[in-house]
Amino acid sequence: MTIKDSYGRTIKYLRLSVTDQCNYRCIYCMPESGVDMKKTAEILSIEEMTRIVRAAHALGIGKIRLTGGEPLIRKDVVTLCQNIKAIDKEIELGITTNGSLLAPMARDLMDAGVDRLNISLDSTDPDTFRKITRGGETKDVLDGIKAALDAGFDNIKINTVLLKGVNENDLLDLIRLTKDEPIHVRFIELMPLGVAKNWSSDRFMTSSAIEKHLKNAEVVKIDGVARVYGLAGHKGTIGLICPMSNSFCPSCNKIRVTADGKLKPCLHSDQEIDLKGLDGKELEQAILDGIMQKPESHRFGVTGSSTERFMNEIGG
Ligand code: SAM
Ligand code: SF4
Repeated sequence: MTIKDSYGRTIKYLRLSVTDQCNYRCIYCMPESGVDMKKTAEILSIEEMTRIVRAAHALGIGKIRLTGGEPLIRKDVVTLCQNIKAIDKEIELGITTNGSLLAPMARDLMDAGVDRLNISLDSTDPDTFRKITRGGETKDVLDGIKAALDAGFDNIKINTVLLKGVNENDLLDLIRLTKDEPIHVRFIELMPLGVAKNWSSDRFMTSSAIEKHLKNAEVVKIDGVARVYGLAGHKGTIGLICPMSNSFCPSCNKIRVTADGKLKPCLHSDQEIDLKGLDGKELEQAILDGIMQKPESHRFGVTGSSTERFMNEIGG
């Protein structure tokens, strides 16, 4: 089965935030303090998340990404992965993680059937990394990446948000990670939403500013929303994802569910459909309603992002 929204786009992809909690406080994602976290009872249980994935799968969604907050904070995330693969082993299951808790879990995630890992790493310089994450250690993430490679993950993506004057000069060190391992570094333009909503334009690096650093690289393909570059002699690739310079709306194939069970038809809209407590056909119908309410495009350039949520609640 395939499901199309009101504008003829086939919806195949669900990003499910499994928690709003995080052990980091990245400066562009969460406030340093005073974060209003959801109570445990408000957060979806593993059973509820499994039901949502089952209903989405029945509607034709075959790609699931677990995100957060930090998804690996949830001790039961491995069970969720097993449950998702038990629905259909063909479901393409990915996780986006900050990697800090990955080292001891990488093997269990591989055994549970996780297909892909995206690991966020904004700098390999310990001081810059500490500054961006407000206290994180690069060593924990690099250990996580190594453990994931050892566990057999062969298509690891590193997500890097570049901030002018903060980590723009770390770009070449990050690219070096692609030399000897099949690691794919993807530079992502900062989006002005959540804590970054009213940031000055001085902090934003455009794709053309990033491209200036990629003089020796050649475009090898377009992979979904990423323009992918190859460098001679490197096992991995470099990608550019430019939500600000380009609109992905015409080819958008995703829906999002927040950790408290609200379906967001569009990242930048405040429109939400409550899925908590629903099951079976009622749940399928609510997801279908959400898909049909997907707007044709966001109004970022006109009004800015309309969502009042921080990124840790939505999951990116
Ligand atoms: N904690 C996990 C992590 O950091 O990978 C998963 C959740 S995090 C919200 C998902 C992604 O969103 C991360 O790669 C992060 O860099 C990105 N992100 C957060 N705020 C952003 C913003 N304002 N603009 C662009 N990307 C952002
Ligand atoms: Fe946490 Fe990820 Fe947000 Fe950083 S980007 S604060 S790691 S949720």
